[in-house]
Amino acid sequence: MRLRNVKGSQERILDNKYAIQTDGQDGRDYRGLWRENYFRNDHPIHIEVGMGKGRFITEMARLHPQVNYIGIEKYSSVLVRALDKRETLEGDNLLFLRMDAEDIDKYFAPGEIQWIYLNFSDPWPKDRHAKRRLTSVQFLERYGRILSPEGGIQFKTDNRPLFDFSLEQLPLAGWSLEECSYDLHKDGPAPDNVMTEYEEKFYRQGNPICRLVARR
Ligand code: SAM
Repeated sequence: MRLRNVKGSQERILDNKYAIQTDGQDGRDYRGLWRENYFRNDHPIHIEVGMGKGRFITEMARLHPQVNYIGIEKYSSVLVRALDKRETLEGDNLLFLRMDAEDIDKYFAPGEIQWIYLNFSDPWPKDRHAKRRLTSVQFLERYGRILSPEGGIQFKTDNRPLFDFSLEQLPLAGWSLEECSYDLHKDGPAPDNVMTEYEEKFYRQGNPICRLVARR
């Protein structure tokens, strides 16, 4: 994603009750207490890691008011775009965290999360950067630490080398593959699928979209 520094984005995140800028301790106080102290309900929590401009997670929050959603994004200037979309949502079931997903287990307690979505994650094509891929063993282990026993991940991408890499990483991290498609939209837009910004673009270009579902 091309990044443009958006002036005032950090301030806007600090001022918005639906976003947390996790620098320092901010957000860690909720670890293990997100349901109780932030959402104030006992609904499951689903996360999207690297939510970008937030189309997918905002639509999911609209469709599933009985689920608490948390979108994680590394860059403030991208997260503020998601805040613009968030304004169209009436519910209180969507929060954004500005943080690097490397720290995910510092902000969530063991078993606190029921599901994780990874959509069109950055491919990091060089071998020496493989650990940075959000579906590497290193990240799967982090997710494993915060997911409930029945929890899992859904990953979509149009990047076949990244998808194949992810399929290889799952067994290495002790995960099992539950669903796998190399062309999710081969018969037209898949039912019960919410398109992300990237997915819409690549689908229109005719790129096959891959999707997997896996559990620990
Ligand atoms: N998920 C969106 C979509 O499908 O349209 C955005 C995809 S974009 C290619 C990947 C996003 O993940 C970027 O916004 C990037 O800043 C974010 N990202 C990459 N690595 C991250 C990390 N370690 N922690 C949090 N966000 C990350």
